[in-house]
Amino acid sequence: MLTAQGGRHVAFPRKGIPPEILQHIRERIDIVEIVSRYVSLKKAGQHFKGLCPFHTEKTPSFTVSPSRQLFHCFGCGQGGDAIAFVMRHERMDFLEAVRELAQLAQVALPESQELQNVPAGHEIGRERYVQVLDLAQTWFCQQLETSSNGHTARRYLESRAITPESIRAYGLGFAPGGWHDLSRYLQRQGVTAAELEQCGLIVKKADGSRGEVQFYDRFRSRLIFPITDLRGRVIAFGGRVLDDASGPKYLNSPETAFFQKGRCLFGLDRAREAIIEVDCALLVEGYFDVIGLSQAGIRHVCAPLGTAVTEEHLSLLRRFASKVVFVFDGDAAGLRAVMRTLDVVANSGVTAQVVSLPEGEDPDSYVRNYGSEGFRRLASQSIPLLEFAVRTCLAATKPRSIEERVKSVDEILRILHKTRNPIERDEYIKVVSECLGIRYDLLMTRWATLTPSRPRAGTPSPRRDKATASDRASGPREEEALVQLLVSGVLQPEQIRQLPVDAFTFPPFRRMVELAHRLLVRRGEWTASEFQAEAMNDAECRSYISRLALADFTWDDPESYFQGCFTRLIANHLQRRLSILIDELRVAEKKRHQQEVERLLREIEAVRKQKAAGSLVPTAS
Ligand SMILES: [Zn+2]
Repeated sequence: MLTAQGGRHVAFPRKGIPPEILQHIRERIDIVEIVSRYVSLKKAGQHFKGLCPFHTEKTPSFTVSPSRQLFHCFGCGQGGDAIAFVMRHERMDFLEAVRELAQLAQVALPESQELQNVPAGHEIGRERYVQVLDLAQTWFCQQLETSSNGHTARRYLESRAITPESIRAYGLGFAPGGWHDLSRYLQRQGVTAAELEQCGLIVKKADGSRGEVQFYDRFRSRLIFPITDLRGRVIAFGGRVLDDASGPKYLNSPETAFFQKGRCLFGLDRAREAIIEVDCALLVEGYFDVIGLSQAGIRHVCAPLGTAVTEEHLSLLRRFASKVVFVFDGDAAGLRAVMRTLDVVANSGVTAQVVSLPEGEDPDSYVRNYGSEGFRRLASQSIPLLEFAVRTCLAATKPRSIEERVKSVDEILRILHKTRNPIERDEYIKVVSECLGIRYDLLMTRWATLTPSRPRAGTPSPRRDKATASDRASGPREEEALVQLLVSGVLQPEQIRQLPVDAFTFPPFRRMVELAHRLLVRRGEWTASEFQAEAMNDAECRSYISRLALADFTWDDPESYFQGCFTRLIANHLQRRLSILIDELRVAEKKRHQQEVERLLREIEAVRKQKAAGSLVPTAS
């Protein structure tokens, strides 16, 4: 339990948390409230719906049921209860998720072993990681406020017109110039060298002459920007030099198990509410742009951490808004950055627009020079990213030679390959035709011969969830129907006992029936809700349970429906058994194993009789 685990198949170290405490937590939390912290949900009948945070979609198939306290995505098949949601979403393991929810529900948990020091050679857990970074963050803030060296940083912030309120709100800090200031402080707080290293706070040097490991503080003489996750917990730092002469201008924490640059946006946790409110996110380039705009009252703004925008950034934003506006500097570098985003934006499901600033301005300076009204006016003139890209190419084309015009046309057509909307594409090709004086049909012919441009090497390729609706088969129909009856609570204990585990071919369903049998033996009676809770804790069943439990089936005559499905289940099971026996018989005959042949013939005869009777109980011959 030392690393955070994600994905559907999670280990379940449940010892340590008694079931009654789990129950206690479940009763005190509301899944709608928990999911709403990450997904904007809309009421739809008795459920809530929103865009799935686990796969890319344009129409909501992510469903949350307040009455059943379950979620399920009918697009990708993820599902479960609040604990499962937090596990999957925060990439936590079971214990971490429970602890997280226990805190929300204000339920006390048995003493945790988690917050103890991590010995050398072991990996740090998320809680300890966050705790150490929080200690560092507090210290950086103190240095900015009170240390004698902090005044350089304070003066610098003043010169950039950052208000004391913003400094506090964004938790800005200062790392003094010493090589061991932070690490010595943290070690006095009981943080080990191994932890400092895994938190990215120190840099290891070659081993010293006497063999001991040497290290020094990663952030020195820098202004510190804490980088937070969606809940405002510090998970990394960005440091900016104060004099442009020393070292790289910006330095970030290295990537760790709990911090990946391509998934983080600076300021998103603070901007989230505003982004949801206006259904739009402004993406700027730098930390100061975020702070500058936000203190001018433009709060729906965030920035990548000095990297290109990734597909994961967009799918993160897509949860809160349908539109993303890229605000870029009007220089050549800004332009290149816009063009680079074409690939990731093309089929991300967000509407992407561009605002380009006058040359020499960045968002921070623009809002200082023209005020928030001026910036809003500029932002209202944003144009679709695709249009921007085409216009940029056209603008660069006109005065050039025929040869270059041909090259530019190809470039534009390749850009247009990125849209899947044929009407949009057609409109753009008409514009290009007019602007360049090239016949429309010629452009179309050329377009058809070009292949879409490949993403450039080095473009981060997104990790995708492998699970799609199609590769998550749901087993034979009668198996699903029987399990549906089971989950809905319409079966009698006697009927449940009749269900033969072996007859279910689809592993999650077989597992459910197995769990149901065990529950019956243990309790002697049957409650569907208890069964659902039990199955929810089983990694294999979880997402199927949520889907079945949310399906809202009614049956006119569940009794005869059950009989019909049950008969088919048994018939199919016996047919499979028969095929296997016949195969074995052929082998035995070939090998002339007379005894084996006779045994198999007897067994085949018995199975045939069972099949005719529609029952697994052997019939007397
Ligand atoms: Zn989904």
